[in-house]
Amino acid sequence: MRIVLLGAPGAGKGTQCKNIVGQYGLLHLSSGDILRRERAAGTELGKKAQGYMDSGALVPDEIIIEMMAGAIEEAPSAGFVLDGFPRTVNQAVALDKALDERSQTIDAVLNLEVDDKIIEARMTGRRSCPKCGAVYHIVNLKPKTEGICDNDGTELVQRPDDNPEVVANRLETYHRLTEPLVDYYRNSGTVYDFDANRDADEVKVSVLASKS
Ligand code: AMP
Repeated sequence: MRIVLLGAPGAGKGTQCKNIVGQYGLLHLSSGDILRRERAAGTELGKKAQGYMDSGALVPDEIIIEMMAGAIEEAPSAGFVLDGFPRTVNQAVALDKALDERSQTIDAVLNLEVDDKIIEARMTGRRSCPKCGAVYHIVNLKPKTEGICDNDGTELVQRPDDNPEVVANRLETYHRLTEPLVDYYRNSGTVYDFDANRDADEVKVSVLASKS
């Protein structure tokens, strides 16, 4: 099964991906996580991506397409869930082409729909653990001790691209470049829409129900 998860940054793609992956044994491929790992490792790719990421812009298509084509090639035959890729029509066309060469297609596109105001509140309140990657929220998902990771006691940080100015840029970029992808995929009839303004658990129930 090959799934694309669409939705604005902060729509809950990462959380829903974990649910689907756990249920179906698929590989979770998050372009944002791969880029953050490259940055942490100080690779050439990480260095190239840095400036774009910190300002809320998209990393150029050719860099992302090459990176994700490599990741998809290593995916198990059970399939994968793509989280954060594709993000432009160009990237979606390149993905279709790469899959077509392997006689594969995308089976389902899950579209998480959320109001901008809710996204802003979610993202600017998000905190994460730099050590284990656990994600918290200052209002909706508090750690047991304020500012400290429940898993390993590390001090939580705000991702540089979750500050209000960068969040506004990321949302603008989403509406301009990524939202048109919903129509791109609707033309092939594989899109399932979800109201993701709700709690993550309620969204989980409807997403899993749609896939069973
Ligand atoms: P994310 O964690 O998915 O929100 O991604 C964080 C940042 O990585 C984005 O704001 C972009 O700068 C970059 N990025 C992630 N995925 C892509 C993609 N498919 N195309 C271009 N840039 C991306």
